[in-house]
Amino acid sequence: MAIDLRSDTVTRPDVGMRSAMAAAEVGDDVFGEDPTVNLLQERVASLLGKEAALFTPSGTMANQLALASQTQPGDEVLIDRAAHIVNYESGAGAALSGLQFRTFDSPVGGFRVEDLRPLCRAAHYWLPRTRVVELENTHNGRGGEIFRIERMREIGEWARTQGYRVHLDGARLWNASVASGVPLHEYAACAHTVSVCFSKGLGAPVGSAVAGDAETIRRAHGFRKRWGGGMRQVGILAAAALYALDHNLPRLADDHRKARLLAAAVERSSRLAMAHPVETNILIIEVVDPDDTPVAVVEALKREGVLGAVWDDRRLRLVTHLDVSVEDVEKAAQILIRVAG
Ligand SMILES: *Cc1c(COP(=O)(O)O)cnc(C)c1O
Repeated sequence: MAIDLRSDTVTRPDVGMRSAMAAAEVGDDVFGEDPTVNLLQERVASLLGKEAALFTPSGTMANQLALASQTQPGDEVLIDRAAHIVNYESGAGAALSGLQFRTFDSPVGGFRVEDLRPLCRAAHYWLPRTRVVELENTHNGRGGEIFRIERMREIGEWARTQGYRVHLDGARLWNASVASGVPLHEYAACAHTVSVCFSKGLGAPVGSAVAGDAETIRRAHGFRKRWGGGMRQVGILAAAALYALDHNLPRLADDHRKARLLAAAVERSSRLAMAHPVETNILIIEVVDPDDTPVAVVEALKREGVLGAVWDDRRLRLVTHLDVSVEDVEKAAQILIRVAG
């Protein structure tokens, strides 16, 4: 079988997770009566130090609910050019909430207040209203980079003085916390709302959550129903997420070790170079020769039984996860050296 390093979303629920799902107590969640969903929402709110959390089918929905619940159409969001919300959510911020995105290049380690200040609008009626600052941690497009906690704190405090809301896209906040040792709630304290995914490194088949203050989450609940995200006996899925939190959260450190093994192979190769230093479970890798392409590299790897993803015209992405063992990764590293030596 191929060693699949395309994404940490390719994992399949294991026997333990499937039996937790089969045994889940359920009820009608549109009536708020699914005990397993309620338990998950309380657990996530508590992990993130927020008043409330809402289970969602996807991370995109969690992010978009956070935006819709804290903005008016025409508002502006300050956001890194490479952010998931700008690039991989089908234009949802514009389509669903009428938002305008003001993008900028983030420096290594996350941006600072001084990077944001020149982008903030004065309060004139002919200007869009600056309303939300968005952070992504870890950063997918920046090779799983961790947003430094000191910078997040500084931004969170400053945003409050400006009356801006802060949303943290924490699809992989679990990885940031495990790698840095900074507790989840300390990252979350820098933002009003936080989204997290259970279907990436944690290995659940479906599901994300958005957390925040009770009033914002109440509004998000209304939008979720309006957008067709009201679910019934969905405790079956919430049980997978709870199982993932119990069993798969601490072991993310293994994924980070596996990613370092791959990065060492990339560093030995002459054809490839790391686009960002590896900090968690994602490698974004550049093709060195201008005449070479990521498509050619990904195809050569595939012929040898390693699956990677073409990221853009110069880069490819490899991601480690629960369903690739250390032996798989060691083998993939050897193949990388053979293909890209
Ligand atoms: C995966 C991901 C999301 C959510 O994506 P869905 O596919 O909608 O679950 C959001 N932000 C980041 C950074 C992600 O990697």
